[in-house]
Amino acid sequence: MTKFFDKFSHIKQIRSNFLEQSECNPLGMKIEEIYSPTQARILGKDCIMVGTNNYLGLTMNEDAINASCAATQNAGTGTTGSRVANGSYKGHQALEKQIADYYEKDHCILFTTGYQANVGFISAIAGRDDYILIDADSHASIYDGCKLGDATIIRFKHNDPENLDKKLARLPADANRLVIVEGVYSMLGDLAPIKEFVAVTKKHGAAIMVDEAHSMGIFGENGRGVCEQEGVEDDVDFIIGTFSKSVGTIGGYCVSNHAGLQDLRYAARAYVFTASLPPAIVAAASENLSTIQNTPSLRKALWHNTDRIYYGLQDMGFEIGPDKTPVIGVKMPDIEGGVRAWQILFEQGIYVNMALPPATPAGVCLLRCSICAAHTDAQIDCILVAFQTVYDALYGAQEEEEEASVKKAASA
Ligand code: PMP
Repeated sequence: MTKFFDKFSHIKQIRSNFLEQSECNPLGMKIEEIYSPTQARILGKDCIMVGTNNYLGLTMNEDAINASCAATQNAGTGTTGSRVANGSYKGHQALEKQIADYYEKDHCILFTTGYQANVGFISAIAGRDDYILIDADSHASIYDGCKLGDATIIRFKHNDPENLDKKLARLPADANRLVIVEGVYSMLGDLAPIKEFVAVTKKHGAAIMVDEAHSMGIFGENGRGVCEQEGVEDDVDFIIGTFSKSVGTIGGYCVSNHAGLQDLRYAARAYVFTASLPPAIVAAASENLSTIQNTPSLRKALWHNTDRIYYGLQDMGFEIGPDKTPVIGVKMPDIEGGVRAWQILFEQGIYVNMALPPATPAGVCLLRCSICAAHTDAQIDCILVAFQTVYDALYGAQEEEEEASVKKAASA
């Protein structure tokens, strides 16, 4: 019986190494109290949170909290049913209309999480004779949606439209082909070359879906994401989004102008066979969505903070992702160095996320920072000071050695 668990021994080994090394395990943190979108107490220590996906700080939006409480009072704590049964309240339908209007699209379908939006949509949309082409660095929910469906799955090189072009050229032109990319990749924060991907997709007469999980609320004049920013919304067939990041709650959705999207209400198992979002969540999402739409100053604050941290870390000498976005993955030399760095930050009251393979691309260990519109300038000063101590601890001795050997060579 215990043999079932043997396959986890590798990951267990890595985790127990962490525990042996540290009293405070970066993979097992418990947040004791939340003070604000950027402050919490962890292990008795007041910390600045730099490891959330709370890009706009909306988890504590007063209007959303009030709407959420009122919705619970009015309609209870849960729907206790699927959207296809007793779980479709007028709030769900109104939210779908609000999202469709926001994107200026004809159709929207809500899911209970962003994960389920990808799994439900992808596994249902493509059948036995169809092809799905996905970026190699796709999120687990995209991979899982592919696994659950019957289509043939083809991976192309990360952020490489030329490679996609080659792969599409080998497929029958009369087959259904769906290309899937993300607006911003969740670990290194790199941006998809979306215009190029759209051009290649259209050249081959294929369809394209963009997961805007980490770009909605952040890019574009109205905060709709990189498709809006790059002016390709009309050429993108499907957009997937989540409420668990900029929207500050939980839930997922897909928008499209294709009327067929409505068919997923009976075809997508992750829509049919799960309970719908509770009224409190629907109300909070609706409120925060309006805030995102009507408060461009939030995006401005987020970009101000992102600029400071991205360039600050770059100037220190850290290796970070190629694009400046609020997701900043700081590459660590190895897991041990990463744990040490994480602890140095934590000792100074800075909480970041530790990201390890297989969740990271190319097997790297990352300190994954996510920037928030609500970070103050004083907090950013503290974050940068703490990262400087990390840099000195990880690379200071090495740099001194290198300098000494250059001097020695010069004087010889
Ligand atoms: N897509 C991407 C690109 C993600 O990063 C995530 C979550 N990290 C999801 C989908 C799933 O979203 P959720 O957490 O809302 O289920």
